Amino acid sequence: MRSTLSLRALLTLFTTAFVVIVLGLAVYASLRLVEIQSTTAAVGKKWLPSMQTLYQLDDRVTEFRMSEIYRALAPDQKTKDQIESMADDHRRAIEYLEDDYATALGQSHGSDLDPFRLQLTAYLALHDAWTGDRASGAADMPARNDSASERLFQSTVDSLDRQIDRNKSEARTAVNDAAQIVHNTLLIMLAISGAATLFAIWILVCVRQKITGPLGAITQALSGLAGGNRDVRVPEINRSDEIGDMAKAFDVFRANALALEHAHEATQAAQEQAQALARHDPMTGLPNRRVFFGDLESAVARAKQGSTICSVLMVDLDRFKPINDLQGHPVGDLVLCEVASRLREAEGKNHTVARLGGDEFAIIIETDVPTHREVVLRLAGKVLTAIREPITAAASRVEISASIGIASCPGDGDDPESLLRAADIAMYRAKRDGSDTFRFFEQSMDEELRGQASLEMDFRTALAAGEIEPHYQPLVDMRDRSIYGFEMLARWQHAVRGSVPPDVFIPIAEHLGLIGDLTWSILRRACQDAKQWPENTTVALNVSPIQLRDAAFPTQILAILNQEGFPPARLEIEITETALISDIETAKLVLRALKVIGIKVSLDDFGTGYSSLYHLRELKFDKIKIDRSFVQSMPLNSESEKIVDAILSLAKSLGLPTVAEGIEDPDVLGQLTAMGCDFGQGYYFGKAMTAEKASELLCKHKNDELVA
Ligand code: C2E
Ligand code: CA
Ligand code: CA
Repeated sequence: MRSTLSLRALLTLFTTAFVVIVLGLAVYASLRLVEIQSTTAAVGKKWLPSMQTLYQLDDRVTEFRMSEIYRALAPDQKTKDQIESMADDHRRAIEYLEDDYATALGQSHGSDLDPFRLQLTAYLALHDAWTGDRASGAADMPARNDSASERLFQSTVDSLDRQIDRNKSEARTAVNDAAQIVHNTLLIMLAISGAATLFAIWILVCVRQKITGPLGAITQALSGLAGGNRDVRVPEINRSDEIGDMAKAFDVFRANALALEHAHEATQAAQEQAQALARHDPMTGLPNRRVFFGDLESAVARAKQGSTICSVLMVDLDRFKPINDLQGHPVGDLVLCEVASRLREAEGKNHTVARLGGDEFAIIIETDVPTHREVVLRLAGKVLTAIREPITAAASRVEISASIGIASCPGDGDDPESLLRAADIAMYRAKRDGSDTFRFFEQSMDEELRGQASLEMDFRTALAAGEIEPHYQPLVDMRDRSIYGFEMLARWQHAVRGSVPPDVFIPIAEHLGLIGDLTWSILRRACQDAKQWPENTTVALNVSPIQLRDAAFPTQILAILNQEGFPPARLEIEITETALISDIETAKLVLRALKVIGIKVSLDDFGTGYSSLYHLRELKFDKIKIDRSFVQSMPLNSESEKIVDAILSLAKSLGLPTVAEGIEDPDVLGQLTAMGCDFGQGYYFGKAMTAEKASELLCKHKNDELVA
């Protein structure tokens, strides 16, 4: 039912109607009561006294007749006169009563007694005539019961009786009227009360239907909503009254609650995602460093209670960087994901496997005390085997290995940080020992590392103080044994440790990012030293592979040469093959730029690395330096001799001059000369020496013309 009136209006209407009905009923009842009262008053005040008057009149007329009869029978005149005076009393009383009657009934009934008066007048006239006769001496009748008098008296009384009957009937009518009014009023009151009751019932039903019922439904919907039922619909939404407004407000509330819930759900989902992101490495899906640390903390706490032993396996991929650099990051990512899944498989789900960053993974193992080492050994072997399995990534087959460092609690560390550090140290040892293997942490490794750290400190100071300086090893032309130049070899005389070999401090310089500083410092010193030497004497500078990745490298060299006034044509750069592998494109650019400047480039340690004819041809080296390991083993190993021979003929076919390193004895020198090697270097000609010694050697050489 669609309601157009507001509930307030409706309720006001109902109440007003009810009040009107009740008031109407009261007014009607009062009016009827007044009517009944006036009717009963008429009966009481009018008809009853008039009747009484009429009866009194009747009595008086009868008394008058009696006195007339007594007069007629009276024995003497005196008695007759006494009786006549009584009769006169009656006559006066009759006159008074007639007046009383007129007064009681009022104007309207003034003529009621006219027939009576007519008869009475006639009767009294006859009486007066009779009494007059007696006075005039006529004989008294023995009785006044003669027929004329009797008839007049009778008709007078009759007319009175008729009036009494009329009045009686009128009084009865009035009483009947009052009874009728009471009856009618009762009926009407009953009818109205019934109607009012029905109206009240109707109002109650309406209130129930329109107010309490819908309110109950809305309340129920509200509690449904509060109970989590979001599909709950409110009834009465189409009404235009207060309930409709309430239903609409509820619907808005429901929509808001729904929106709020959705927003809450979205926030929760975002929170969960953020939490997952915060806990997991997004690429491999493995737990991240934070989670790993949390787990390790708990494992260490348990181990410290003595019930278990926990170990950390630090797994670091070997030579992952070249894969990333040469085959691209997508392949690198695939490799990492594959390694992650293999690690997860290998550990058998009982331990934590996490990616700590880059190509570094870690596993936490917790086991019973007696079996621990056995389990760890088995897992380490399993992990190495799993990673060794070639990986097919984006159409290319990648072979990779890992180095694992293992540290345990109790024993190697009492907290996650120190345990992880110990595993890290062991992992570096595994790498240093050739990679693709695992090492358990030992205290000596830590000491070594500490030694390394102090060496690094010392290196910084030494480099800043210019304590690392170039020494010069002669480079000799094999045909005439003349010195055509020197290779600069860095030397560090440590105050405590003595001479520190470049094999030790060059990696430190690279690791500390100071290799550039070292190279420039040596080059500057060499430029200054070489100025005192004959103009055509060359100097060869060793360049670290890292430096070839820097496209600005040639400009920096040129700047130094310009500053020092050293001609580029006198400088040779020695690079190893590994330098070419990591970033071939930049290396190509750098080499080309060096050549443009006029600097010569030699390929150092040829034969030890990743030899490729492509490199030789494409990069247009000026010289090839045959690694000293082949040269030195020539007298002992015919294989080496063959290798050297092969290198020499390869270089010849490419039109590249060759330098043999590590010549220590004259036989090898003779052999190499016979095999057609162009240049030589080695202790036979001289070890790396100071600039002064080099100058002296050059002088001596100039004098002798020949070396040694
Ligand atoms: P390298 O470039 O192959 O240098 C030649 C190495 O062979 C030098 O060792 C030299 O002393 C040694 N040697 C030369 N002739 C003989 C010989 O007849 N017998 C033997 N047993 N050894 C001989 P050193 O000075 O210890 O240098 C080692 C390596 O350190 C060098 O190998 C080079 O790669 C690197 N290096 C040295 N100085 C520098 C530098 O200033 N910068 C860079 N980046 N690397 C340097
Ligand atoms: Ca060299
Ligand atoms: Ca070399």
